[in-house]
Amino acid sequence: MKVLVINSGSSSIKYQLLDPETADVCAHGIVQRIGEAVEPDAVTVEHTAGEKTLEYQGSIVDHAQGLHVVFDLFIASGQDLAHADLAAVGHRVVHGGGVFYRPTLITDEVLRAIVDLSSLAPLHNPPNVIGIESARALLPDVPQVAVFDTAFFHNLPAAAKTYAIDPEIAAAHGVRKYGFHGTSHDYVSGQAAAFLGRDRADLNQIVLHLGNGASASAIRAGQAVDTSMGLTPLEGLVMGTRSGDLDPGIIFHLIRTAGMDVDDVDVLLNRNSGIKGISGVNDFRELGRLIETGHPTAKLAFDVYIHRLRRYVGAYMIELGTVDVVTFTAGVGENDAKVRAEALAGLERYGIRIDADRNNAKDRTARRISTDDSEVSVLVVPTNEELAIARAAADLVG
Ligand code: ADP
Repeated sequence: MKVLVINSGSSSIKYQLLDPETADVCAHGIVQRIGEAVEPDAVTVEHTAGEKTLEYQGSIVDHAQGLHVVFDLFIASGQDLAHADLAAVGHRVVHGGGVFYRPTLITDEVLRAIVDLSSLAPLHNPPNVIGIESARALLPDVPQVAVFDTAFFHNLPAAAKTYAIDPEIAAAHGVRKYGFHGTSHDYVSGQAAAFLGRDRADLNQIVLHLGNGASASAIRAGQAVDTSMGLTPLEGLVMGTRSGDLDPGIIFHLIRTAGMDVDDVDVLLNRNSGIKGISGVNDFRELGRLIETGHPTAKLAFDVYIHRLRRYVGAYMIELGTVDVVTFTAGVGENDAKVRAEALAGLERYGIRIDADRNNAKDRTARRISTDDSEVSVLVVPTNEELAIARAAADLVG
């Protein structure tokens, strides 16, 4: 059985063709710089099937062309998607609002509802919609399934999801905590339980999804009870380019005194803040190198990042009462031993003991980085949102 998974972003499309049962990846790739004028020899699409990587050079004017090129590359590598007997196409959709909280078969009506949710996710849902429309046009006979980033957090307790504002205004405008990266938090917490040989229903977990975007979640017995992202993916942890939490008064202050309008502040907080805002770079590998050269603000960026992360870990330990497992995942969480060590340093009295050798080991599989006598198991678990989406889509279409 094969499922094509599509993650359509504002200027990129990531995709995988995989078997949801065995997790074997038949092909994967990325379309980048959609809508940008690029040099004729610039590589904009990379498609890998088995050992072979095929490239496409030149501008990609829109998502539809991007997917056309991808389909041609599939054919060039010997896999014609139109005749691949696909069980489904699984689409990552960022915002499901209060409407969608399960994998959902995409009909015209569902698509319209996803379009309507764009007011809540103006940066994310429109490109998701374009990806869905393009895939439906190219593969009209294959069921298309939307898997929502917000779904895992749909049932957050009222106290966690309610912002302390006028409830009428909140209800009229859909203002509540939705949470994002839910597919990853769900998958990783399941993998963590499996690694420990425990039932997820018997565990209290904290999951730290630290990629370019970053979020934390508190999960009791498999149910999310809190998460750091909010109405939008801007709230919470310090991220590659996003500020995470800040005093909302800063926004009024900048609009009133810095000559910025709403869009300027939006760009500032979403694209030019976080690690990048403080240090100039958003990649932790580069940040590490800058810190070594004594760069004036790189260490500060790292410290601000860790300070926020520890604040959330502390908050979620108290919310959960007892914690059985803390799991790091995504690009930074899976690879940066220093971030992991500093995030949980000095917490021995709370039952958290990191084993330095285990933490520093270069390993790509799920593993324990706490000591054997640590009451709290600390794990690193690679996330795999594509596999989770493929499985959800395959389950839905039977
Ligand atoms: P996205 O949120 O875009 O899916 P990822 O989960 O792939 O992001 O994480 C990307 C980030 O992971 C990079 O920006 C970088 O900061 C970090 N990263 C990737 N590899 C390493 C590494 N070996 N060491 C430290 N950080 C890494």
